[in-house]
Amino acid sequence: MTTDPIVGIAGLNKWFGDFHVLRDIEVDVAKGERIVICGPSGSGKSTFIRCINALEEFQEGRIVVDGIELGPQLRRVDEVRREVGMVFQSFNLFPHLTVLENCTLAPIWVRHMPKKDAEAAAMKYLERVKIPHQASKYPGQLSGGQQQRVAIARALTMNPKVMLFDEPTSALDPEMVKEVLDTMVDLAKEGMTMLVVTHEMGFAREVANRIIFMDAGQIIETNTPENFFANPQHARTKLFLSQIL
Ligand code: ADP
Ligand code: MG
Repeated sequence: MTTDPIVGIAGLNKWFGDFHVLRDIEVDVAKGERIVICGPSGSGKSTFIRCINALEEFQEGRIVVDGIELGPQLRRVDEVRREVGMVFQSFNLFPHLTVLENCTLAPIWVRHMPKKDAEAAAMKYLERVKIPHQASKYPGQLSGGQQQRVAIARALTMNPKVMLFDEPTSALDPEMVKEVLDTMVDLAKEGMTMLVVTHEMGFAREVANRIIFMDAGQIIETNTPENFFANPQHARTKLFLSQIL
């Protein structure tokens, strides 16, 4: 690789008490790369991507995000959070704030953006996720698919360099999965660097540069989508694919 990775992870190990949840994780993510992470429930996928925006501590190894070294010495967590947007399975919108207020909260308070600018930015992204007309509604008035698109717009309003998605469609009714995946495909086409935990293998095939398969806290296999599906290297990958496809 010619350029420095935008996310560099080396020798990452993490424990919850005695439980060794992440084992020797090594991943470099180049700018514009799209990585899909899959694997059985409990394999450490969420814990892994939560480490990348400092939602979880880790005990060994290094994580560097756009030149910012994460770890116990990190003084300003918000420096990382504003570079790394995150979208969760359960949307995590603030129910008592409107769609627009959900999107402008962090830009105003973390980025110190003037309210007018934050609102303009938020509207731009709400248009991009195709729900500008819902701006003054409350999350509870929207469908799950719309709420998740608001969550994506909210993350984008911070103008992050990297976007993390943790099973963004698993809590949605089937008919709403596509609208969220379409939004993510658009984002990928615009060149966003993305790490996506998902079992949507159609999305992985279409969008991923690399697929990472995790099991029991380890990266078992890293492969191109073509090879991952046609020629998986490990028995555990084969078993996993046979269960979900
Ligand atoms: P995945 O996202 O692949 O389903 P997780 O990263 O959520 O896996 O969890 C990995 C393992 O770590 C699971 O066994 C889970 O029970 C455990 N775990 C997750 N969060 C915590 C926590 N805060 N404290 C203790 N154990 C946890
Ligand atoms: Mg998870």
